[in-house]
Amino acid sequence: MALEIHILDYGDIELENSFLVLGHNCGRVKRVPVYGFLILGGTYPILVDTGYRDNAIMESLGMRGLQFHENMMEQQLARFGLKLGDIRYILHTHLHIDHAGKDDLFPMNTTVIVNRRELECSVSGLMHPQYPKPDIMHLIERLHTQDALRFMDLEITGAEEVIPGVWCEAANAHTEGSMNVVVETADGLACICGDVIYDFQDQIVDQVRQTQFMEPQVTGNHAGSKRAEKGAIKRLLNNFRYLLVVHDKPAMVEHQQIVGRLEMQVPGPISQSVQKRNWFPV
Ligand SMILES: [Zn+2]
Repeated sequence: MALEIHILDYGDIELENSFLVLGHNCGRVKRVPVYGFLILGGTYPILVDTGYRDNAIMESLGMRGLQFHENMMEQQLARFGLKLGDIRYILHTHLHIDHAGKDDLFPMNTTVIVNRRELECSVSGLMHPQYPKPDIMHLIERLHTQDALRFMDLEITGAEEVIPGVWCEAANAHTEGSMNVVVETADGLACICGDVIYDFQDQIVDQVRQTQFMEPQVTGNHAGSKRAEKGAIKRLLNNFRYLLVVHDKPAMVEHQQIVGRLEMQVPGPISQSVQKRNWFPV
């Protein structure tokens, strides 16, 4: 059976637009989705990212959480006939507030997989409001529990396999320890790339405030250099058929250009797998 990626809808957040795209629409609020991804059809069910803990925790960053009953983890997994305990691995693109908020719902024999560099950064104190205490404390609890946590060292290894057809690579963007999750689908390679891209339209398709041809715009929230961010985005466009990010609907890529977007409401839940849905041209 081929691997399939399904999108989970963890609710929306409202934030200031220039946080999403550097210098764009400063002071204006934008509502964006927060997605997770379920990889089925392989050796074990895999979940990528777990969303934010609750609406209240988003206030600590001056953002608004819009999480409702249907966005709860149990409800989202139930759409696929799954319970919390059925998930074998949780992978994290990174550990920011809106990506690792529900790990403590899962049993300790669900192994959480993170790039070691990302957990280091989460406790460095450099960006700590984006790494809230309860989420990180839970990961430390897992660190001290047999098999509850697995580290990757992607800056050194290059890539590490999770199950056949699913592997992780260093993202080299967004945060120091971000990782991309690559999935071999029947239609080509899909890459779940977290927050390396926030907004396909404003950053890549019709780049805001860029005069150079095919030059991606960076987000307003990157820990590394602008050159590193641009390079990381170009690398994604160069290597993958599908790009799936956490705060925008998925994109289809051909010859380093975005040629299609997944036909779905943003925000809003979708029920079928990413590959079987309709794509519309850009
Ligand atoms: Zn995010």
